[in-house]
Amino acid sequence: MRVSARFSGIGTTIFTQMSALAAKTGAVNLGQGFPDTDGPPGMLAAAAAAIEGGRNQYPPLDGLPELKTAVAAERVRRFGMAYDVDSEIVVTAGATEAITAALLGLCDPGDEVILFEPYYDSYAASVAMAGARHRSVPLRPIDGRFTFDPDDLRRAVGPRTRVLVLNSPHNPTGKVFDRAELDLIAAVCREHDLIAVTDEVYEYLTFDVAHVPLASLPGMRERTITISSAGKTFSCTGWKIGWALAPADLVVAVRKAKQFMTFAAGTPLQAAVAQALTDELDWVDGLNTRLREARDQLRTGLEKAGVSTYACDGTYFLQADVASFGHTDGLELCNDLAVRGGVVAIPTQVFYDDPASGSGLIRFAFCKRPEVLDTAVRRLSAYLGSA
Ligand code: PMP
Ligand code: GLN
Repeated sequence: MRVSARFSGIGTTIFTQMSALAAKTGAVNLGQGFPDTDGPPGMLAAAAAAIEGGRNQYPPLDGLPELKTAVAAERVRRFGMAYDVDSEIVVTAGATEAITAALLGLCDPGDEVILFEPYYDSYAASVAMAGARHRSVPLRPIDGRFTFDPDDLRRAVGPRTRVLVLNSPHNPTGKVFDRAELDLIAAVCREHDLIAVTDEVYEYLTFDVAHVPLASLPGMRERTITISSAGKTFSCTGWKIGWALAPADLVVAVRKAKQFMTFAAGTPLQAAVAQALTDELDWVDGLNTRLREARDQLRTGLEKAGVSTYACDGTYFLQADVASFGHTDGLELCNDLAVRGGVVAIPTQVFYDDPASGSGLIRFAFCKRPEVLDTAVRRLSAYLGSA
């Protein structure tokens, strides 16, 4: 089969590969990040009611008005930021579509996009689809916490740089960018007239630290496309309902691309997410507490078994050291761990331009029930004991 040059270097996503390996081996799947419990019952009931009630045809291109209104109201409540429901919000098929549409809508061939590395795998693919190039700014651990060197960021900006993508809370490191880091990023965006595309899908899943949207910093609202989705906030990753908020001219860029990608998706699910954003935020508080406990359970279990881990202030994910397992390469370790250890993790190296830069790390997802994490920890301890 002949694949276009644009996709020739792009394989099947690691999440699909590792979930298939988990299914084949019967390993506990701490790879692909999805919860193993359902979202708020009220939201599920609202989706069922919308289907039963005949809301099964196309939604408007921009999304159901009730969802856009709920998104706008949530931003005002939480951050005091006002977005116009008619011109500054667009609903997408998950955050993934919003990110791809933003990059396609903004970049010309040869333009450059800044990514913090390791980066969520869809970013590099979307940049490539747009015919643009990405430049990576490394996040490196200092005292167990990932951070970046401001000089690396400044050096990454060139005459063709058009967009900076910021993902906070950050997959795969579990880092939440703090105010000083955000100030620095904002200053670079303002100085070089960059557009920021922020991926905030884990915005509600921070533990003891605040999530600060980049758009809330001085001079940033007018140059930021803020992207989020329902998948993580309401434990419905299979629904793929996302949205982008931005000034009208930037929303136009997203919409132009999105209208020919999916046009629109998920009418009854959009209705249910509108209900959840309005009525289910207490449920999200409970999810946050459970996830923090899950993080602690997995982290403590790993450390007790002799595995070094890194700080995780948000998301579903914990980074662990490959060397603790007596291995040098994360991909080899993950394959062996699935087959002989009965646990699937993600080799962090797939989120780097050069796999060698991330070969010493693997990522565990802790968005699972306590008994599942318990089984995983027991299996990992046994694997380490037998290594
Ligand atoms: N961004 C990040 C950082 C993610 O981890 C994910 C995975 N859920 C996505 C985007 C995709 O979000 P969605 O499922 O809403 O497309
Ligand atoms: N965001 C999920 C993760 O990082 C995976 C989503 C997907 O499979 N595309 O695990």
